[in-house]
Formats: sequence, C-alpha cells, structure tokens
Amino acid sequence: MPKWVIEHHKDICIGCGACAAIEPKHWKMEGDKSHLNGSQKKDGNPDGVWEIKEVEGDLELNQEAADSCPVPCIFIKKLKD
Ligand code: SF4
Repeated sequence: MPKWVIEHHKDICIGCGACAAIEPKHWKMEGDKSHLNGSQKKDGNPDGVWEIKEVEGDLELNQEAADSCPVPCIFIKKLKD
C-alpha cells in the first residue's frame, strides 16, 4: 500500500529548476515547468495538480526539493494507515 503522496501543483510552478537539481530521479524540466516523473493528473487540467503515490524511499530528497521550492508547489503528504 502506498504510504506517501507527492503532489506537484504545476499550475503555479515557476520553472526555477531547483527540484530537478536536487532530486533528478523524480523531477525533470519540461519547457517552462518541472515534471514529477511517473505522476498522474489529479484533475483534468494538464497544468493543474499532478501526484504520485510512493510506498517508501527517496522521500528525504523529495522533502528537500519541496523545502527548496520557492513557490512552494511541491507537497508531501502521509497517507492514513
Ligand atoms: S522547485 Fe518548485 S517552482 Fe521550481 S521547478 Fe520545481 S516545482 Fe517548479
């Protein structure tokens, strides 16, 4: 069962590149926005909210990416057990 959700609010991403520099396994730049690898649209808007569910691992670097995001538009949430 997934334990964590990483959310990317792409609609407000300013494309600074910090997330991709810190955690290139999960984040890459696509044009003037970043993209969370393997994420799915949470709503119908391609520039809206994208998310990926994680079982474990790599959350420290993703948390660092979230903490470094100047907007911020990266959110890491723990799912209920
Ligand atoms: S750090 Fe935030 S604003 Fe910068 S590219 Fe990543 S998600 Fe977008």
